Amino acid sequence: MTNSIDINQLVRKNIRELTPYQSARRIGGSGDVWLNANEYPTAPHYQLTQQTLNRYPEQQPEQVINRYADYVGVKTEQLIVSRGADEAIELLMRAFCEPDKDSIIYCPPTYGMYLVSAQTLGINCKAISQTADWQLDLTVIEQNLASVKLIYVCSPNNPTGNLLNPDDIKTLLAMTKGKALVIVDEAYIEFSAANSVVSWLANYPHLVILRTLSKAFALAGLRCGFTIANKPVIDALQKVIAPYPLAVPVADIATQALSHENLTTMKLQVRNLNKLKERFIDKLDSLNIVERIYPSSANYILVKFNDPQVFNYCWQHGIILRDQNKQIGLENTIRITIGTQAECDAVIQALTHFERQEGK
Ligand SMILES: *Cc1c(COP(=O)(O)O)cnc(C)c1O
Repeated sequence: MTNSIDINQLVRKNIRELTPYQSARRIGGSGDVWLNANEYPTAPHYQLTQQTLNRYPEQQPEQVINRYADYVGVKTEQLIVSRGADEAIELLMRAFCEPDKDSIIYCPPTYGMYLVSAQTLGINCKAISQTADWQLDLTVIEQNLASVKLIYVCSPNNPTGNLLNPDDIKTLLAMTKGKALVIVDEAYIEFSAANSVVSWLANYPHLVILRTLSKAFALAGLRCGFTIANKPVIDALQKVIAPYPLAVPVADIATQALSHENLTTMKLQVRNLNKLKERFIDKLDSLNIVERIYPSSANYILVKFNDPQVFNYCWQHGIILRDQNKQIGLENTIRITIGTQAECDAVIQALTHFERQEGK
């Protein structure tokens, strides 16, 4: 009879109703060209130097914290390292939001994990759409601040690629002072480094910044991210984080990735990738099926096509991109990660073939 037990009835109601995050890996696909997860296209090579796997790791590996604090120019007490920025998104909710009572605000079209994490924890979500030019709708946000503890904004925004207007972030910080935290997700900031808001921390006790080694540092497989904020916020997060959030090999490699030499390499690779992006945009621009290419400050671009079949055509030809058609305001758009020169060329070639086949 064990087969007839309905485990699903034991699952929490909000989890039964939850649509999990549709990660690039979950969606799958098969092919040679993977440009759907904003990963860096080539792997860095590191050797493990720590063999003490019989011991638990440090709760917050000192060298990782010291080096990252140095890199961003903050005090070590203003940092916490976690299993990717994704874990940080959730830690903030666990530390600051009462389930069924408090709310978060997020601003679609944007990164999907703010919503999924809140739904998982039973925290209310207020979706406040961005304006037509993909900036914060400050008027509507201000009208909806009741019960809100956390406001997640993303700059450069995923998937649109644009930066948020810094004056708008300042206005948001002014209207939320003493009421809510403003979380600026800077997962892609290295591709547009001058636009970080880290230097604002001295003026705003309720500003929080999320960072990751997954994108510009080419270490998505490592699972290592950072939260930067003033000490009282970090202290609250320290209370709820797992006892050993970073495995020994993760801390080992993160420490190496943050050496002076490897930081220099990272910055060089970012410059090269940004150049590749400009060339890719020029080529895309000459195609008839391309309706619009949105300006990007990140390692991906959002492209609007005048034909709904482009995504499937590429998918069938082994070029895996990220369909954004279902996101609010993004009909017929596809997000394309900037890969190697060869990968970018393969996209252009596929799109050119598609155009010919369709007689456009
Ligand atoms: C990729 C991404 C993250 C997640 O980063 P991890 O450190 O890999 O968990 C967070 N925010 C945005 C906007 C992202 O695109």
